[in-house]
Amino acid sequence: MSKRYSFEFFPPKTEAGRDKLKQTRTELNALDPDFFSVTYGAGGSTRDNTRGIVLETLAAGIDVAPHLSFGGDEEAEVLSLIEQYREAGVRRIVALRGDIPSGMGATRLIYARELVEFIRKHTGDHFELEVAAYPEIHPDAPSYDQDIQFLKDKLDAGANSAITQYFFNADAYFYFLDACEKAGIDKPIYPGIMPITNYSNLARFSRNCGAEIPRWLSRKLEGYGSDLESVAAFGEEYVTELCQILLEGGAPGIHFYTMNQVQPVKRMMEACKASYP
Ligand code: FAD
Repeated sequence: MSKRYSFEFFPPKTEAGRDKLKQTRTELNALDPDFFSVTYGAGGSTRDNTRGIVLETLAAGIDVAPHLSFGGDEEAEVLSLIEQYREAGVRRIVALRGDIPSGMGATRLIYARELVEFIRKHTGDHFELEVAAYPEIHPDAPSYDQDIQFLKDKLDAGANSAITQYFFNADAYFYFLDACEKAGIDKPIYPGIMPITNYSNLARFSRNCGAEIPRWLSRKLEGYGSDLESVAAFGEEYVTELCQILLEGGAPGIHFYTMNQVQPVKRMMEACKASYP
């Protein structure tokens, strides 16, 4: 069976960033991905920006999935956005709880399962729905097994498949797949892959989202110090091999966190597609 490949962008804040993203999109689209996705700042902080990039990508004839969460928004606001997407011809949404940015005050976090139910209730089967999965377990989860049960709840509520948080340890993914299968999950779980280009940024980001950088890998990357070229070269080699291991082990495809850059994900995708079209 052919594998599914997708690329994730975040919405740039400036006009120059948005122009550059068009160029990035054109270059990555030449690799014929199944779709692009565009992140969403929970609390609606990127609402217009996300929508703008999604609609413009769609107008260019490219399949694109907006990420979406309730954040602190009213149901009517979220529904209006969903309706705009439906009318524009969007066929896929990544449904999330999101994290409320600090400074936004106390807002009830609405679980992704509730958003999946909400979208299904109002738009039936129009959208393919993706949800998030965590092979190393979400930081707020009460336990490993509970987190898997909550993933199952989202999928049972009508989501079609899941995309994982990034990880650097293939065993965590394969163990997770087994645990999901034992829990009765039979929908595809696509690994999310983060390129390694800058160690200090990656380390900070990983601490926040609960992704683990194995000790040997962080020591290796730290050892390059300010030699960013070596970090990037080693990172690309390591993450490309990780992709190959995942695909060979049965992963149904790869979702690349591009960080809005063409490289290194372009070369990684080429390597993946050469072995696993
Ligand atoms: P949920 O599935 O709702 O779960 C959140 C937590 O609550 C988990 O710990 C879960 O175990 C627990 N939980 C679930 N249901 C219950 C329940 N009934 N009772 C008690 N606990 C429960 N963030 C953004 O802000 N914007 C984005 O665009 C974005 N895109 C992402 C894309 C992917 C592929 C991934 C993996 C993550 C993305 N994130 C994004 C991050 C995500 O929003 C955060 O990780 C967030 O903290 C959890 O979102 P979720 O949809 O997984 O939440």
